[in-house]
Amino acid sequence: MPVHPIPIPDPSPERRVFTNRTLNMRKIKAIGYDMDYTLTQYNAEAWEECAFGHARARLEALGWPVKELVFDAGMVSRGLVIDLELGNLVKASRFGWIVRAAHGTRILEYRQLRRAYSGTIIDLAEERYVFLNTLFSLSEASLYIQCVELLDEGLLPSGIGYRELFGAVRDAIDSAHRDGSLKADVLADPERFIVLDEDIVASLLDQRHAGKRLMLITNSEWSFASQIMTYTFDRYLPEGQTWRDLFGTVIVSSAKPGFFTSSNPLYKVVDEERGLLQPHHGSIEAGGVFFGGNARLVEQYLGVSGDEILYVGDHLYGDVHYSKALLRWRTALILQELESEIRVLTDFLPTQERLAALMKQKEHLEAQLSALRLAALRSRDAYADPMFEVDDPDTAIAETRSLLVALDDQIAPLAIEAGKLRNEAWGLMMRAGADKSLLARQVERYADIYTSRVSNLLYPGPYATYRIGRLDLPHDPHPPRDLH
Ligand code: IMP
Ligand code: MG
Repeated sequence: MPVHPIPIPDPSPERRVFTNRTLNMRKIKAIGYDMDYTLTQYNAEAWEECAFGHARARLEALGWPVKELVFDAGMVSRGLVIDLELGNLVKASRFGWIVRAAHGTRILEYRQLRRAYSGTIIDLAEERYVFLNTLFSLSEASLYIQCVELLDEGLLPSGIGYRELFGAVRDAIDSAHRDGSLKADVLADPERFIVLDEDIVASLLDQRHAGKRLMLITNSEWSFASQIMTYTFDRYLPEGQTWRDLFGTVIVSSAKPGFFTSSNPLYKVVDEERGLLQPHHGSIEAGGVFFGGNARLVEQYLGVSGDEILYVGDHLYGDVHYSKALLRWRTALILQELESEIRVLTDFLPTQERLAALMKQKEHLEAQLSALRLAALRSRDAYADPMFEVDDPDTAIAETRSLLVALDDQIAPLAIEAGKLRNEAWGLMMRAGADKSLLARQVERYADIYTSRVSNLLYPGPYATYRIGRLDLPHDPHPPRDLH
């Protein structure tokens, strides 16, 4: 019984914070925030469609016949992998087995999938594979798979293979991000691209007042970051305050993941109006705006150990992989798509339970069939005690098999339905059939906690302990199951 009957806020399931490793927020002294898709939520479809358009224009300028191509959000999803060798987009399980694949925009049939990939295990360290780490990857993947079809039809310049094709698409997307054209569109029509969230400000205010030092560490350049932060934050702050009052220090153009792996030099933005830079040889300073630099400088400035810093970001590689793997910072991953994922899973629960009950029956029948076959074998060859007598083993086996076939007929449509949840082509983001997806594996490896948006931290608050429950292992004893 609690000493005081405290009402504990209980957000809806899709707004909860999920834990991979126990994290006591009271031990966190500083919190670094990424900006894009972390502090600022974008309408991914609008942004990616725009990025797609800019990249397509660049390919068109090369004379490629891409005019008719359009961004198709249904054919791409974060966590999928581009296979540069075969020009495919694939989905893998946590161990890297490929469970679904598309060549161009066409999903491979089971036999084609087996032919292409039986025996292949995806190792993301291999150059052959490109993991879709962030929502920014969706335009690139959509453009790539459509260009693969053009390449197959012989409509692209000769000498280009699937790998070179990816290079060209990558360059086109990269330049759309870098030359300012895409960002000019976003800033010209922010309502279209940005999803405002008032509660983010409240959750950051809680953290500040609880004594945590907040930093903004973004790959975006100063002019974009300052305009976006002003647009998303200032409207919710008390009169006279700006987003700068929330963040002690700001680092822009941080070049993550290099920020975590290298010793990039630090510059100071000395003229914030014009974005003028000066090399900065001293330490990071409170209240300043810096450019570049690296994570070691942040640690020196904060004077705290890695496990007292929490970094919150949306990019699996750029934000949480290296900050965790190299620096042992605590990490929170923002996965915007979790909300739709959890909503469809909740709606599917009754069907999921029916499916689970049928699978239990199947397991039981398979065990019976196996025992019958063994008893029949031992009776026939008389080398061991058959354990039980069956009058007519062949008939018993045939009957059990036909029960299994009938059961499979019931299971198949439900399993197909389960495989199309959230995304008709690729299914759930975090699952690969009954197993975890490769994305889910990356998330559990590198993110201590994960949630759909920063404002979800408001409910547990800055004193929360995110605690991992006891994990189930296959050999854990369970109460006897009713199999009938
Ligand atoms: P962050 O998420 O706040 O660290 O910032 C992401 C920044 O990276 C944004 O300014 C994006 O426009 C930029 N970005 C995303 N993808 C690319 C790319 O492919 N090339 C260059 N910049 C990119
Ligand atoms: Mg980001």
